[in-house]
Amino acid sequence: MRTIIQNGTLVRSQGIEQADLLIENGFIKRIASGIQEQADEVIDAGGKLVFAGFIDTHTHFDLDLGVTVTADNFITGTRAAALGGTTTVLDFATQDRGMTMQDALDLWHKKAEGSSCNYGFHMAISEWDGERAAEVENMVAQGVTSFKMYMVYDAMRLNDGEIYAALKHMAALNCISGVHCENYDILNERIHELNSIGMRSPLAHPISRPNAVEAEAVSRLMRIGQLAKAPVWVVHLSTHEGLEEARRARARGQEVYLETCPQYLVLDDTRYGDPDAEKFIMSPPLRKSEDQDALLSAMGSGEIDVIGTDHCSFMMSQKALGGGEFSKTPNGGAGVQNRAQIIYTYAVRTGRITLQQMAAMMSENAARMFGMYPHRGVLREGAEADITIYDPTGESKISYRTNAHACDNSPYEGMKVLGGVSDVLLGGQHIVKNGKLITEGKGRFVFRKSSGRYRA
Ligand SMILES: [Zn+2]
Repeated sequence: MRTIIQNGTLVRSQGIEQADLLIENGFIKRIASGIQEQADEVIDAGGKLVFAGFIDTHTHFDLDLGVTVTADNFITGTRAAALGGTTTVLDFATQDRGMTMQDALDLWHKKAEGSSCNYGFHMAISEWDGERAAEVENMVAQGVTSFKMYMVYDAMRLNDGEIYAALKHMAALNCISGVHCENYDILNERIHELNSIGMRSPLAHPISRPNAVEAEAVSRLMRIGQLAKAPVWVVHLSTHEGLEEARRARARGQEVYLETCPQYLVLDDTRYGDPDAEKFIMSPPLRKSEDQDALLSAMGSGEIDVIGTDHCSFMMSQKALGGGEFSKTPNGGAGVQNRAQIIYTYAVRTGRITLQQMAAMMSENAARMFGMYPHRGVLREGAEADITIYDPTGESKISYRTNAHACDNSPYEGMKVLGGVSDVLLGGQHIVKNGKLITEGKGRFVFRKSSGRYRA
């Protein structure tokens, strides 16, 4: 099977170039201008942007919170991801207490069967002891080389000593660990304070966990990482103050990776006054325009490594399980399909980042950080032909009605976006054509090597 992508503008972190791509048997065989060869399919990408397939570093599909299960499973979630130009999602396999990492990994492999884009797993761990530590090498041998720990959530949280020990252990195996940074004791105390004065509505959600709740935890994680001599990855960074703490650690010479999410760049905490405010209940909460501005500036200066969606979707009826109380509402929002359009519209077209930086944060850095480079994440001869073609023309509005998410709401409802993903190739197969998903269920598990640790 040979495919040629003609007349496109290739976007890579190092530069922009007009060239054609010849794809053979799932791999990029040649990159050159004016390729004239026989092919089974020729895709005209004239006027369009050709990227290495986007990698979403942060999704939660088919996640059971106990009270309810996310609206999207891997079938619907990866359809939406593919339509949004994402060729690989890194989802969080979750080791609940009493379970082994192997149990969690086996379960996630099952959940992910039938996915429409490729998938890899980070392993989220909820306990740290000798038994769990002994499992890490086994995970690495199965292509799982990144881990996540939570400072919050009763069912998941680790204490500082456990985080320290885990970071140290992972670093020795060249694995990278992400941490959800919020101060658990303080946010709980603030929830009690707010509840005691009758503030239970979504408006109280950002008040319960203001910027300092994240910044204190980022600062603490930075010091834990320093003591453990380990790389740290701050997942879903949302505040200017948290960013400042990470900058301080980098200035001390620490190896710090930063992930932010589209919602922290384009939505703010005034939305908690909306009639459907429950859909914005996520942690960390939406912030203020100063935070959006600081994060966009950090993207422009190369300080942010990757952009994940933290897609964790719930129907409005599931959000209502909280009875209107912010502290009981399932946390999370939908967004796996909208990442490229939001970043292109609100970061590239507004002049905050370049197209090359978009390519870096949407695919190349993720591939490097998470052990997929140079096989994925870059348009290069010999690489896997996971390719996303973005048509920058036209304008549309995001709506849950047109998203493929199995979700009756979108935090981005009604938001204007410029252009959209026209075509996606997954391992050389044309799966999205003119904005329509034409082939489903072709996603494969991505076996990852140890982290590239490019900030070491
Ligand atoms: Zn998450």
